[in-house]
Amino acid sequence: MHVSSMGVSKFCFLFSLALCALLLLLIPALQPSQHQGDLPQPRAHTKPARHPGQWEAYRLSDRAEGGLPPTELELWWGLGSRSRTPLELKDIFIAVKTTRKYHKSRLDLLFQTWVSKAKEQTFIFTDGEDQELRRRAGANVVNTNCSAAHTRQALCCKMSVEYDKFIESQRKWFCHMDDDNYVIVPSLLKLLSSFQHTQDVYLGRPSLDHPIEAAERVKSDGSVSVKFWFATGGAGFCISRGLALKMSPWASLGNFISTAEKIRLPDDCTIGYIIEALLEVTLTHTHLFHSHLENLQRLPTDTVLEQVTLSYGGFENRRNVVSIGGAFSLVEDPSRFKTVHCLLYPETDWCPSKGHH
Ligand code: UDP
Ligand code: MN
Repeated sequence: MHVSSMGVSKFCFLFSLALCALLLLLIPALQPSQHQGDLPQPRAHTKPARHPGQWEAYRLSDRAEGGLPPTELELWWGLGSRSRTPLELKDIFIAVKTTRKYHKSRLDLLFQTWVSKAKEQTFIFTDGEDQELRRRAGANVVNTNCSAAHTRQALCCKMSVEYDKFIESQRKWFCHMDDDNYVIVPSLLKLLSSFQHTQDVYLGRPSLDHPIEAAERVKSDGSVSVKFWFATGGAGFCISRGLALKMSPWASLGNFISTAEKIRLPDDCTIGYIIEALLEVTLTHTHLFHSHLENLQRLPTDTVLEQVTLSYGGFENRRNVVSIGGAFSLVEDPSRFKTVHCLLYPETDWCPSKGHH
């Protein structure tokens, strides 16, 4: 009896010793797992901003799929991949800003092309009722009742409604687009997948190579100035839900218009001001978004389909389009959007089938 109880306690002692040793071994494996969870974003995305001259920055394909690699502990437990739920198209809210006079000339092309691949996630923000548009997009058309003028007030009014509708939608990501943008939907999903919507993420392309300076009239009397970066609205930009919620005091329910009036800047600058100057969150610069303010012809042909957004020059600069050949000539497809669409989705019924060309 005495001997066997001695044996049991000896076994217990040895067992707890072994358990302690195992725990000690596990401590270093646990640390990287906590650390990686705190990272605001994967490093891969900050790289293009640091090397703007390199064409590699225009490629999305070599980006790590789904973000971070599994930690040692996850591998030890046989969990090959992170259990984070993958981002789906339905998690994104894409707002397209337009105006009555562009319903035919610009929106039709978008419906025919990329919007057809993201019907449920695309919301059209316009300024006039249009029966045909309503039939086509139903509840996804929002008549903002904002003025149809191209003034700061009118444009900020639309952005304000876009923001409120996004908050109401409960989706994870807000992306703003102009009606002369082509969104490469799979690229957008892939890009956003590598960030977390619960963190503060503001993604876009600056139109200037330096931050803008404005008189600080929100937090102080305007005697001091602030410098901040902003993503140009013409290239499209995205904001995580986590960050959008923090913008609420200056962006929700009409506050956006008064914030813009205070600093007297356009809608996209005001977004940058709220995020960078007021909330002190930095813009993640990306070269995957494009507006017609840049020379689109300079984008290497073999990287065009890997971009997130594209655009085309308007009346004043018709030739500022991406250089890509394919199904349609420049006369048939001046924006190049149909050509891009047929290269991305060759099975589309109006795309010329390979056999005929
Ligand atoms: N826009 C608008 N109201 C207007 C004029 C333009 O909402 O009175 C929208 C237009 O539909 C587009 C964006 O503002 O989504 C930018 O317009 P545009 O491309 O004509 O000008 P840009 O600033 O790019 O030169
Ligand atoms: Mn434009």
